[in-house]
This record gives sequence, structure tokens and C-alpha cells, in this order.
Amino acid sequence: MIIGVPAEVKQDEYRVAMLPVGVEILTAAGHQVVVQAGAGIGSGLADHAYLQAGARLVASAADVYREAELVVKVKEPQADEFALVRSGQIVFTYFHFAASRVLTEAMIDSGATCLAYETLQDEKGRLSLLTPMSEVAGRMSIQEGAKYLERPQMGRGILLGGVPGVAPAHISVLGGGVVGANAAKIAAGFQADVAILDVNMDRLRYLDDVMPANVNVLFSDRHTIRDQLKLADLVIGSVLIPGAKAPHLVKQEDLRLMKPGSVIIDVAIDQGGCVETSRPTTHKDPTFLIDDVVHYCVTNMPGAVGRTSTFALCNVTLPWVLRLANAGADCATRLGGPLSTATNILAGKVTQTAVAETFNLPL
Ligand code: NAD
Repeated sequence: MIIGVPAEVKQDEYRVAMLPVGVEILTAAGHQVVVQAGAGIGSGLADHAYLQAGARLVASAADVYREAELVVKVKEPQADEFALVRSGQIVFTYFHFAASRVLTEAMIDSGATCLAYETLQDEKGRLSLLTPMSEVAGRMSIQEGAKYLERPQMGRGILLGGVPGVAPAHISVLGGGVVGANAAKIAAGFQADVAILDVNMDRLRYLDDVMPANVNVLFSDRHTIRDQLKLADLVIGSVLIPGAKAPHLVKQEDLRLMKPGSVIIDVAIDQGGCVETSRPTTHKDPTFLIDDVVHYCVTNMPGAVGRTSTFALCNVTLPWVLRLANAGADCATRLGGPLSTATNILAGKVTQTAVAETFNLPL
């Protein structure tokens, strides 16, 4: 099969969908890989590394889409890429269709088959292509929180770990899933005083077993959240109710409970945010102030650490790319198992119930 890897064009996106080692593995299995020149630059991966691994470099995205039977990307096609996607082609990437009618209609019109990373459930039912980006965002949330707690960044001038004789920062993590656990782990390493809140008792018991002594696990209810807001220097928003908008665990009036210069990193912003006053921001302009509380609400946090994120993403996507390629160019119509859970649009027809229901489209 001919597999194509275009450069990403979305703003602030530095990832690429394939590593040179992926090219090597695919070509060894008898496939051809076409890579757009410069596609890996944002992740520090030079063209010659792809060439050495056996890729063919082409000048433009149009060349990639013209040749490839299977296009592997990171972000959903942008408006100026719509016309490049063609009938009979398979596109494998993060789509998040329910967030965009324009994208959904463009992909239906293209006649292509769209396999979404975010809906692929592995044999154990896990959304395993989402997990690495939550790991990145969770760990990064503490790094960003530390930065915005600095006084020149509008923060209250607090060092996460304190120093001998001075108390460390208090960090409240709202939601103890993949993002929350990774945030807590890094925060604990900084020697901060950490609390993780969740509503799932099994999850709390697990976190209590594995977390170090400076992490307390607490049941998440309105009283505990308000108590935590009074204590917190840094709040990490990391709840998820699958398929739904994030619940507003922190209301606008709650900001008055918080100390001036405290920081909220609302990682859940891609699901609407779990803080009422959150609104999406970008890496170029990541924060804003409401009631003296710094809000950081970047929707694509992993994009800023493109190299780490590229490796983390490609580690988990490559086995599926290989499976697809080995199944052959006409495989889309007869996909079974986990890959069928990734199918959102099959040859121009919506196959995911959630997408069809969102836009009132026939299945
Ligand atoms: P997850 O499903 O692993 O964890 C979510 C946790 O929230 C679960 O443990 C659940 O029990 C808990 N929860 C639900 N309701 C709660 C409540 N009322 N109080 C406290 N906890 C509650 O999800 P995840 O992978 O950790 O992702 C969390 C969010 O981060 C998602 O919205 C995800 O899309 C987002 N995310 C954003 C970025 C970004 O760049 N901004 C990157 C990766 C992930």
C-alpha cells in the first residue's frame, strides 16, 4: 500500500504522524511511504532521516494526497486541505467530527473513508490512541502551572516545592484519570502538597495505593471542591464525562475563594472546560485573568512539546497503521475488530452514531 504523511498545517501544531522508524517498519513489510518534505521539522526530525529509512520525499501536500492510498495525519484536515482528500482514500488521524459540521460535510463530500484515532477502542475497550496525549497534557500542566505561578507571569510568586522553612504550593487536581494521575505524579515529584479529587471510589483507592505520601485522594463533591479552592495555589482541571461537555466544577463565584495570583490550568477545555470562566486559548496567548486568578486554557497542549508528543503518538499509532496497510487498499469496507471502531465515515457515509446524531445525518 502507498502510505502518505503530509506536514501538519494547523496553527501551533508541531507534531508529525510518523517517525523514521515507522517508515522503516512499513517499507520492510513491502509498503511505500511518501513523506512531504519538512513534515518532521517541528519535531526535530530531518528529511534525511526519513530518506534513510526508505521514504520517498515529495514537495507538497497535494503530491502526498495524490499518491497515497492511506493518509496518516495528526490533526483533522484543515479547510485548505479539504479539496485534497479524495474518494477511495483512507485518512487516519484525530478528527473530533462532533466538534465541526463543516469538517464532517467536507469529508462526506470527499467520498473518503475517515478513521479517527479518538474513537479507536483496542481489544480491551480502551481509547488507547487518546491516552498518550492525556499523559503529555497531565505532566505538562504542572510545568505550565509552575511557570504561571511566577510573579512576572501574573502568578502569586510561589515555588512549587517551597524550600526548607517555607511551605510548598498546594495543588488541587480535579479528576484523577490519565491527565490527573500524571499531573499529580509530577507535582509530587516537585515536592508540592497535592490533592486529587474524583467521584470514582475504585479509582481513588487505586490512586491512594500508587501515589506518594504527599498526594491525598479526596472524594469530589461541592464542599470539598470549595475547601480546596481556598487552599490551592494551583488547580488542574482534568475531569471527563465521556462524550459529554465537562461539568463546571468551579463556578464563577468560587473564584472569590481563591488567593489572588493563583493559577488554574483547565486541561479539560477541549470538552468545554470544568471551570465556568474558562475559554479556549492558544500557545501564542495562553492565559487571561479573571478575579485575579490566572486561567490557562490551551486546547492543544501537547502541540507545544511536539517532539515528545510525536514520539508518544507514533508509538501507539504505528501498529494500527501497519495493520491497515497489511489489510490492503480495499480493506475499509471489511474492517473488523478495533479498526471498525475507528471508522467514522466509510466511503462518504457516516457510520458513527454519535456523529450522525450530532448533525442529524443518516447512518
Ligand atoms: P479520564 O477519563 O482518564 O479521566 C477523567 C476523570 O474524571 C475520571 O477518573 C472520572 O472519574 C473523573 N470525574 C468525572 N466526574 C468528576 C467529578 N465531578 N469530579 C471529579 N472527578 C470527576 O480522562 P483524561 O484522559 O484524564 O482526560 C481529561 C480531560 O483532559 C479530557 O477532557 C481530555 O479531552 C482533556 N485533554 C485535554 C488536552 C489539552 O490539550 N487541553 C490534552 C489531552 C486531554
